[in-house]
Amino acid sequence: MEPFRTWIDLLFPRACAACGGPGAAPICESCRARISVRPAEGCCRVCGKTLVARDDALGTAEPLCLGCRTRRPAFDLARSALPFGGPVRPLVHRLKYNGGAWLAPALSEYLHGCVLAHWGAEAIDLVCPVPLHPARWRRRGYNQAELLARALARRLGLPFAPRLLRRVRDTPTQTHRGADQRRANVAGAFAVPPRALPRAYGRCILLVDDVMTTGATLDAAAAALKAAGAGRVLALSLARD
Ligand SMILES: [Zn+2]
Ligand SMILES: [Zn+2]
Repeated sequence: MEPFRTWIDLLFPRACAACGGPGAAPICESCRARISVRPAEGCCRVCGKTLVARDDALGTAEPLCLGCRTRRPAFDLARSALPFGGPVRPLVHRLKYNGGAWLAPALSEYLHGCVLAHWGAEAIDLVCPVPLHPARWRRRGYNQAELLARALARRLGLPFAPRLLRRVRDTPTQTHRGADQRRANVAGAFAVPPRALPRAYGRCILLVDDVMTTGATLDAAAAALKAAGAGRVLALSLARD
């Protein structure tokens, strides 16, 4: 299927990556109009999760989800640009599995908007992607988080640090796991290599991934940056449920 799709992309480069229809690539006007950014209101102050009735059960004045109240993640704050539905789902799938590397610059526009809406670029020192394990990188040929982070760093005019973090352990896919299992699965999977330590120390690092599900991966990656002495870690993902 994949080589065939690559051929289609070559022959009809102007098809929309979300709906496959004609129109300005990579995302047609009608899909673009259906993409809405995640609202800033009604979210957990720390992880950005949309608050539900269950989260308010403990009734504190601070808007925190139950998860962050129970166990504070290693990142200081996390936000996601887009809700993971509508045209966003096929776009993310395409970016990740269907040789969709060419989509990253267009999608980084949404990450850029999210950074400006929540944090601004001034406070951030470097942009760092969540790395793939080298074995997985070889299979896929690219890391979608790295492509997004690179395009975002360019938009923000900030240094890009793709080798600040390393994935030291390959982890099985997270897809069918619950929150606790996901956390155990990625615990200790990341490290800052000794030569990168001076770059992390005391810095405010913008950590970028494509999708945030329970936040376990961003948490584990942020824990490695904090262990290396990072001052702040702001976790940013393109999409989240
Ligand atoms: Zn479309
Ligand atoms: Zn939270």
